Amino acid sequence: MAGLRVTESVCPYCAVGCGQLVYTRGGELVDIEGNPRSPINQGTLCPKGSASRQLVQQPDRVTTVKYRAPGGAEWQELELDRAMDMIAERVIAARERGWQDVDHRGRRVNRTLGFAHLGGATLDNEENYLIKKFFTAMGAVQIENQARI
Ligand code: SF4
Repeated sequence: MAGLRVTESVCPYCAVGCGQLVYTRGGELVDIEGNPRSPINQGTLCPKGSASRQLVQQPDRVTTVKYRAPGGAEWQELELDRAMDMIAERVIAARERGWQDVDHRGRRVNRTLGFAHLGGATLDNEENYLIKKFFTAMGAVQIENQARI
């Protein structure tokens, strides 16, 4: 088929890691199917993996920041920069509120119990690697992933 390009990829949805063939034309995604060369799924995809095209092309996909203020009943749209600043302010404040130099026995721990991180199954290896490094660098000790729950 003219102009059709196929790229081997991996399903983003769970730790099984099924191989996918991603078809594009002119830079636009046109189809995703199981990769028969993958020893994991041998050309098959589960219903979730078969629908992974919707991760990119779902027409109802939310593409703007939605914010509901504490006690508020309505969602409002925020500029991404403003939302990122608000998140950063809250992370710093929670880190400081939950900071511990030493534990209850006086041992130095230099950690915060002010926040934790729970990753989702659509995170890939590279994202999980960076999240683990980032949260550990901030002093978090409660870092987990949905795939282990
Ligand atoms: S196709 Fe299904 S089983 Fe395979 S990685 Fe994706 S979500 Fe997991």
